[in-house]
Amino acid sequence: MLEIKDLHASINGKEILKGINLTVKEGEVHAIMGPNGSGKSTLSNVLVGHPAYEVTKGSVTFGGKDLLALSPEDRSHEGLFLSFQYPVEIPGVSMVNFMRAAVNEQRKYKGLPALTASEFLKLMRQKREIVELDSKLANRSVNEGFSGGEKKRNEIFQMAMLEPKLSILDETDSGLDIDALRIVAEGVNKLKTPQTSCIVITHYQRLLDYIKPDIVHVLYKGRIVKTAGPELALELEERGYDWIKKELGE
Ligand code: ADP
Ligand code: MG
Ligand code: MG
Repeated sequence: MLEIKDLHASINGKEILKGINLTVKEGEVHAIMGPNGSGKSTLSNVLVGHPAYEVTKGSVTFGGKDLLALSPEDRSHEGLFLSFQYPVEIPGVSMVNFMRAAVNEQRKYKGLPALTASEFLKLMRQKREIVELDSKLANRSVNEGFSGGEKKRNEIFQMAMLEPKLSILDETDSGLDIDALRIVAEGVNKLKTPQTSCIVITHYQRLLDYIKPDIVHVLYKGRIVKTAGPELALELEERGYDWIKKELGE
């Protein structure tokens, strides 16, 4: 589904990603962990096509297509979804209108007719129930005045609406209390199918108690320096990152 080869990327002329190699297959859940400032958010931003980042070397294919050649919109239409570490507020744009535009744009890209108002509201209701999103939130402006937990839940709702092939959750757990964490994780798990994949980026093991990864990577100084099974997340929780730095001869 996703194949990243020797990816290098810079921001403001400073190289942050220094040769990332990563393959994600259909149905897999990967966790990317690593100390602050390692380049985790940079990697997710580069994958979705954030214009501030410059790819200087390497390739990324997504579903057989050259991802880096696609516009950010088309990456999303192709089924890539990023849940941001810091969701933006869009005052004056209601959730209903925002999601309706997003869903119908995606349908247009796939050559499908737009949903009627009643079809759309039915879809909203179905997906809202999955993530236990309050109907009142759905009628407000996007993320405006939402609590940290509500914003995160809202993102999982957007994910449910768009049915992405690959979801990247960047520190979806930061700022979540334990109940919100559980609801977000359960939402992600309910949306999971054998055809969809997920990259969970997190500092802590906590989220991985709920979203079980198949493979765990450590990103450090712009490179993936270790890859193992779910036990690696537990070891990091226990021992921190210093032993990995030692292994690297630091
Ligand atoms: P992580 O998500 O792993 O905490 P980031 O990808 O956010 O790491 O950051 C990686 C590195 O890139 C850090 O050293 C950070 O200071 C640097 N960085 C991020 N954004 C910018 C920017 N706009 N200009 C310069 N450096 C940046
Ligand atoms: Mg960070
Ligand atoms: Mg980050």
